[in-house]
Amino acid sequence: MKNLHPLVKKVLFTREDILKRTKEVTEEIERYYNLEPLADNSLLVVGLLKGCVPFYTDFCMNCNLTMEMDFMVVSSYNGGISSDLDPTVSLDLKTDVRGRDILIVEDIIDTGLTLDYVKNYLFRKGAKSVKILTMLDKPSGRRTDLVPDWSCFTIEPAFIIGYGLDYQEKIRNLPYVAICDTEKLKDWKW
Ligand code: 5GP
Repeated sequence: MKNLHPLVKKVLFTREDILKRTKEVTEEIERYYNLEPLADNSLLVVGLLKGCVPFYTDFCMNCNLTMEMDFMVVSSYNGGISSDLDPTVSLDLKTDVRGRDILIVEDIIDTGLTLDYVKNYLFRKGAKSVKILTMLDKPSGRRTDLVPDWSCFTIEPAFIIGYGLDYQEKIRNLPYVAICDTEKLKDWKW
């Protein structure tokens, strides 16, 4: 690939890889929900901002189910000091989730703490069902028993950038998933 960002150590998945795999997983999801009568005849697809954006778009544009789109921002740290604090909802859904079938779309699952929290939060608010689709799964980092219902790729532990995943809020727009060269972060300047 040409013009890789200098923070890239290794490209794991190109845009073509991601689109191909997303299509396969989307077909599985369509088959699953076609067997279930959906509440309101519509799936509520919830994206967790901001990392979900590229993958969320790929999924939704490939999916033939009748859907509604909505978004949440869930932060698991305050002021960037620690990521070990309990997650909090900093932007909530506009949609009333009572009785709804929800599919959460996420960029990556590491500890599982964020999605564990969101899943319970949506059930507490009265959701009928909550399923999880993730682009990437890092099961080695897990600190809960959370398992995604659908995952495009399972990966080894590494700090990932691109296709929605940031470093210091930047480079979410790289059109590939890559391992970050963390050696370069020590004296990195934008
Ligand atoms: P979890 O609660 O599962 O530990 O983390 C979920 C969130 O942490 C993801 O939505 C993402 O924002 C962030 N995260 C986890 N692993 C990575 C990674 O390798 N790279 C980046 N950029 N963010 C990550």
